[in-house]
Order: sequence, then C-alpha cells, then structure tokens
Amino acid sequence: MPTTTRPCDECGTPYEAQRRTSKYCSTKCRTRVSRRTSKAPAAKSKALDPAGGTVTQLPTAGGPLDETSPANPNTEDMTGSLAEQVRKSLTELRALDTISGAQAIRVARQIDRGGDSGSAVATLSKELSRLADAAKVEAAPRIKDAADDIADRVSEKLRLVAQ
Ligand SMILES: [Zn+2]
Repeated sequence: MPTTTRPCDECGTPYEAQRRTSKYCSTKCRTRVSRRTSKAPAAKSKALDPAGGTVTQLPTAGGPLDETSPANPNTEDMTGSLAEQVRKSLTELRALDTISGAQAIRVARQIDRGGDSGSAVATLSKELSRLADAAKVEAAPRIKDAADDIADRVSEKLRLVAQ
C-alpha cells in the first residue's frame, strides 16, 4: 500500500499518510482538533454567558456607585437644588433676569419644595424646560451683543497696535 507525504491539517508538519483519508500527523494532533471541535458548542454557550453576565453586572455596577456617592463630598454640590442649577445655567446664558428666566427659577423652586404629585412635577418639568428655552431665546441677542462688544474691543486694540 503506497503512502503519500502530506502536511498535517493541524500542525502542518509533513508526514507519511497511511490512508487517503488521513489528515493528521499523529493522534495528538487528531485529538487536539477533535477536542477543539467538540468544545465549539460549549464555547458558543459560553459566548452567550457574557451577555447574561453583563445584565447581572449592571446591579453590581450600580452598587459601587451608591457606595461612593456618600463618600464623595462633591456629589452633594452636584445634587444641589434644581433652582440653584437653573440659576447657574441661566447666569451662563445671561438669561437670569429675563422674564422667562425668572419664571423658570420660580418653577424650579416649586419642584424643589417637593410637595407636588408626580404628575404635577412632570408638568412643572415640562414648563421649566419650556421657560428655559424661552429665556435662552430672550437672552440670545445679549450674547450676540456681548460677542460684538468683544469683537469691537479686539478690533479697536488691533487698530491701536497698527498705528
Ligand atoms: Zn500534526
């Protein structure tokens, strides 16, 4: 019976194939492959596990957060009153003294008081975001004016430098 030299499908080492159907140089290579292929379905089910693992990890991810928030003093400043946050953003937008801005703060204070029902708070929140947007619109020309002021000053300076 003639033998042919062929490379092993597993390790690539050329070997004397005793049979035409032979694919591997040794039982070691054959078992390695059969183990890998038999493991494949197991690996698939394992691939599903991380997905489930991610879901189960979510509560644990929330756990450390809950533990760190009281330890972090900055968190308390961050969770300051809604009215304070609104006031800060309106100040940044130069919209604090607009009519809508003042109303927005009043609404935010009402939400802060916390005496309202959930649906009332939802309505107030909607009103608050509407007022905040209106305040932004009211303040928009001022921001532009301020930007123009700065631009004027810069060009004035440039003119002085150029002289
Ligand atoms: Zn081999």
